[in-house]
Amino acid sequence: KILNQIHFIMAGNRTFTMIKPHAVADNHIGGITAMIEAAGFRIVAMKKTQLSAAQAGKFYEVHKERPFYGELCEMMSSGPIVPMILEKDNAVADFRALIGATNPANAEEGTIRKKYAKSMGENAIHGSDSDENAAIEGAFFFASIEQY
Ligand code: GDP
Ligand code: MG
Repeated sequence: KILNQIHFIMAGNRTFTMIKPHAVADNHIGGITAMIEAAGFRIVAMKKTQLSAAQAGKFYEVHKERPFYGELCEMMSSGPIVPMILEKDNAVADFRALIGATNPANAEEGTIRKKYAKSMGENAIHGSDSDENAAIEGAFFFASIEQY
């Protein structure tokens, strides 16, 4: 019951993100987290880790029928990533606006993908698409005692 109440209070205030391997390899952790904080998000949890191909497959399971699924899992497990839980009013929608379009060719000026994405696949950063997925994805990487 208490957990449900906490979840209700937090709904809409948190999202999940990860900096993708190419952006970590190119030393853009600082540049990207600076843009995130400048946009008013508070970093609740953050670490550097690496997914196995099987773990990437589980994270992106919703895309398993898409033609790019194999490439996506290979790319996401190719090197270290930086997952984060972020907090802000209207977090999910505001963060999707901050990262920009999936295809960097369509990403607006001032977005993270406009600055750091290289291609449709290597598009620098993930952003949850709903409150429900933000909670699921955050819990995939972080225990409750890692979220402050
Ligand atoms: P997002 O929510 O903007 O990240 O986009 P999607 O949920 O549609 O796709 C998840 C991720 O799969 C994207 O961020 C890309 O890294 C990758 N992706 C999506 N579409 C394509 C594609 O057409 N080709 C390749 N190679 N990767 C893609
Ligand atoms: Mg998505």
